[in-house]
Amino acid sequence: ATPTALMVGTGRGAQLGILIKGPEVLESTRRVDTVVLDKTGTVTTGTMSLHNVVTDGSTDENTVLRYAGALEDASEHPIARAVARAARDRLGTLPEVEQFANIEGLGVQGVIDGHAVVIGRPTLLRDWSLHLPAALREVVDAAEAKGRTAVGIGWECEARGVLVVADSVKPTSREAVSQFRRLGLTPIMLTGDNESAARAIAAQVGIDEVIAEVLPQDKLDVVKRLQAEGKVVAMVGDGVNDAAALTQADLGLAMGTGTDVAIEASDLTLVRGDLRAAADAIRLSRRTLSTIK
Ligand code: ADP
Ligand code: MG
Repeated sequence: ATPTALMVGTGRGAQLGILIKGPEVLESTRRVDTVVLDKTGTVTTGTMSLHNVVTDGSTDENTVLRYAGALEDASEHPIARAVARAARDRLGTLPEVEQFANIEGLGVQGVIDGHAVVIGRPTLLRDWSLHLPAALREVVDAAEAKGRTAVGIGWECEARGVLVVADSVKPTSREAVSQFRRLGLTPIMLTGDNESAARAIAAQVGIDEVIAEVLPQDKLDVVKRLQAEGKVVAMVGDGVNDAAALTQADLGLAMGTGTDVAIEASDLTLVRGDLRAAADAIRLSRRTLSTIK
């Protein structure tokens, strides 16, 4: 590839809303055969809202929401924003939290009114020996089957409630996935979220392969494993938790609407956060490189 042709490709990329780190990036795009897609913020809007709150009966809904909102107020996670916003809208000011800690890819913890409170994945509550009663378990299962995310909250040796949050698939994601297929690429969804929610979202956009419940530090290993199988991997993500995998991928693409960490880790930025621009990028690089042969 001549530098001039690559520069032209770079300029055309800018017109399509694709920022390319250097002309050489287009070279590595050519052999890509697999597109790994993060779920939240990449396939979906990433703007979650609180759908419902269910308690175990021992605690009232407002107390569950007050504690959950207070704790999540200190977190940047899309789930946290949804919960904190809903709590502040409904209840006004929220109590103080001491000893706040983020449990990466699992949830958050802190002390409120003298109670050690934890909120996050149902498996995180189990690790704290807080067991969801059957009725709450059913709420979790029903939410996940619909592609929603359910987090549990508990304190003082009891699981006290479940909060269901949801965002929606971006209107352009389904079209992007069919474009990937037309380009001969295999789409795979990779997410920290639970298996059933991930499968429900994947089905909405036409993805069959789902790798779910992957901790942030393990997303990198999934990309490495695919590469060890001989795949040439493009990865599209938006979160801090995607950064290592974006760097490892043969081609890293960040959503321009995502975090700075993801953008810095990537070769390309899709300025408008539209997944179709990822297909445009791959098409552009193939065209740019074939005109120079
Ligand atoms: P994704 O890959 O979809 O961006 P993450 O790795 O960030 O997901 O999170 C995985 C899961 O961990 C979430 O679906 C949620 O169950 C739990 N989790 C992470 N952070 C929080 C939080 N601040 N509050 C509640 N749950 C959380
Ligand atoms: Mg994400």
